[in-house]
Amino acid sequence: MKIIKCLSCSRVMHIFPSDTESCIFCSNILDRKNIIDVFEKSPSALKSLISTIDTRIENEEFDAAKLYLSWILEMAPGPALIDMGENIEIVPKSGEIHWRRLLVNLKCKSDIQLLSKGRSLSSNPFFEAAFHTASEIEKPVYLLVQKAKECVFQRLESELLTMLNQIKSNSGSAKITEFKQKLSSVQSITLSNIKDLLTIEKDLKEHEIDITAIINEYKNTVNTIFVSLKTVGDINKAEISENEKRNWVSKVDLRTRASESEAYELKGVLHSNPLFIRFEQLKQEQNTLEISIKDNLKTLNDIKTQIDEKIKSFNTKISKPYSEAIEEMQKGNYALSITKITQDRFDKIVSEVLQSIEL
Ligand SMILES: [Zn+2]
Repeated sequence: MKIIKCLSCSRVMHIFPSDTESCIFCSNILDRKNIIDVFEKSPSALKSLISTIDTRIENEEFDAAKLYLSWILEMAPGPALIDMGENIEIVPKSGEIHWRRLLVNLKCKSDIQLLSKGRSLSSNPFFEAAFHTASEIEKPVYLLVQKAKECVFQRLESELLTMLNQIKSNSGSAKITEFKQKLSSVQSITLSNIKDLLTIEKDLKEHEIDITAIINEYKNTVNTIFVSLKTVGDINKAEISENEKRNWVSKVDLRTRASESEAYELKGVLHSNPLFIRFEQLKQEQNTLEISIKDNLKTLNDIKTQIDEKIKSFNTKISKPYSEAIEEMQKGNYALSITKITQDRFDKIVSEVLQSIEL
């Protein structure tokens, strides 16, 4: 792992043995003559250890690399690199050892891999140590990677949220729209039913007055009949003979039969009265409408419950995986997010970020 400056875009970066010879930012071919070896003037033991570590990192033998790094830190502990007694002149002040610790800790064999692994570099102690011990040539290398990592995170997060919103507006709200339409149709039926019911109640009130008049007339007639019958019974028993009594009994009989038949006829008149028929019809219609309104109100309630359930299941089934992906990413695990947006899309984001990143 060495530092190289691109002559096309002037940005500095690490170059790893497995890297192609092109700039990670602008893709132009790098000229190896521009390689800066920060350990050039270091003791040969240190140079040899660095080279061993780089081979281990290259082969993804991170545990071995970690062990060699701990030896180096004993020889030249990071921030104290310049206070190395007799080596003070030849051990450069460098963040490169700590940068290797950062790579090894996150199991990355290149800086590009850092863009899809681990938490934000601002909170990483190895990054902190690298940055604080960095020389002027190293600092921009670290800052560019840090900035690129933050941009990639933001782009990924924003794409996930956009995808979620699209799914919400396509599937979720389509279902809710369907329910809303059902709801609105039941609502309008109910409103129209209520309107009809009010008209019927108004009609019923008017007819009730007419019907009361008819019923009263009927009651009065029947009363008159019974009043006359009562007069018959008022005759004092002692003042009448057996003959007269029989005569009266037969008269009462006749009157009773006549009144029965009159009452029966009156009843027939009442039931065949068009107003009475209309009144009964209206009452029937009122009853039917009341049942229909009750049913509709129940349907409205059912629809509301269904909508609530749909929203709940939408939140758990569709929304949750996206918020989980973002949470995992904050913890440094990008796998879920990359699966959601696809590897190709992720690679494109990384390449766009690298192209546009500036300090
Ligand atoms: Zn370049």
